[in-house]
Amino acid sequence: MKDIILTGDRPTGKLHLGHFVGSLKNRVKLQNEGNYDKMYIMIADCQALTDNFDNPMKIRENLREVALDYLAVGIDPEKTIIFVQSMIPELAEYTFYFMNLVSVARLMRNPTVKNELKLKNMDESIPSGFLNYPISQAADITLFNTTLVPAGIDQEPMIEQTNEIVRKFNSLYGETLNECKILLPDNSVARRLPGIDGNNKMSKSLGNCIYLSDSEEELRKKVMMMYTDPNHVKIEDPGNIDGNTVFTYLDVFANDDYFKKYLPEYQNLDELKNHYKKGGVGDVKIKKFLFNILNEELTPIRIKREELSKNMDYIDEVLIEGTNKARMVAKENIVKFKKALGINYFDKD
Ligand code: ATP
Ligand code: MG
Repeated sequence: MKDIILTGDRPTGKLHLGHFVGSLKNRVKLQNEGNYDKMYIMIADCQALTDNFDNPMKIRENLREVALDYLAVGIDPEKTIIFVQSMIPELAEYTFYFMNLVSVARLMRNPTVKNELKLKNMDESIPSGFLNYPISQAADITLFNTTLVPAGIDQEPMIEQTNEIVRKFNSLYGETLNECKILLPDNSVARRLPGIDGNNKMSKSLGNCIYLSDSEEELRKKVMMMYTDPNHVKIEDPGNIDGNTVFTYLDVFANDDYFKKYLPEYQNLDELKNHYKKGGVGDVKIKKFLFNILNEELTPIRIKREELSKNMDYIDEVLIEGTNKARMVAKENIVKFKKALGINYFDKD
């Protein structure tokens, strides 16, 4: 059986480099290899509202921005169904029944939720909608019979939780739902790219992002203010590469061709790292190198995005068409689900 692929993003801001290396690259690769049954990308506006309920305009403003980012990185609406979460009411229905299968204690133990609560200072004041978002994510995944989810490592606990729900549902009501697997990037750093502050994961909500849509000047500024080694003051000082964000990014983006093109005095990253550790390489030099690489990666995306943004009616068409397609599948799939629960009271068969 070929995979059914589904993944999504919260429209809490434009998409950033973390999305690019953590998930978007894998999505585009899978899409273009074409070896799947169906591929979906969901703009998770309902989930975004769970912690932005007091600012719905933010979600509204970013919905089309996220869609622009998708098309700019190479998501092709002819191959991938892009849809809006809130326009698929069957998702809310699945969520409602799944809530019976998960304890509050289990939700509180979810490490990603725990971490997000800490970052948002939410603890006791946590809205129950936010606490329940892993359940709604299980609905997103299972409604479409998803088997593969290309995502960053913060999604691993969500996939685990989804599969627990699937097993519980199937054991109570009969084999109905599929389990799924996460597809992480091969490069372990790309699974959780840190923000330019070097502290946390790059995250729209934390303001530590390099956006795919940043101008060349914004990109330069952000790279130049990146966290390196605070004890590496003079060029001759030995430098530390652990926790040095510039090197973390180089681990993801640098390749030998980039060295030939932008830093030919070194053959590869190991050589540069060794020299930096010994002393003799300045931070400005490594930052300029990283800027050149990122600018080369992001320029085509930036240009395509700019072009696409001139025709927002087309973006709307893509979203409406994709959502219609997803809705048709949702309506079909919920029949079996309701039958398993025995709430298909008036069906004839
Ligand atoms: P928010 O701050 O609103 O939660 P976010 O920046 O975390 O936004 P999401 O929409 O939550 O982005 O994540 C969408 C997808 O991108 C998920 O698959 C997630 O794993 C992946 N992702 C997000 N940030 C990173 C990152 N820094 N590194 C790798 N993958 C990431
Ligand atoms: Mg997130």
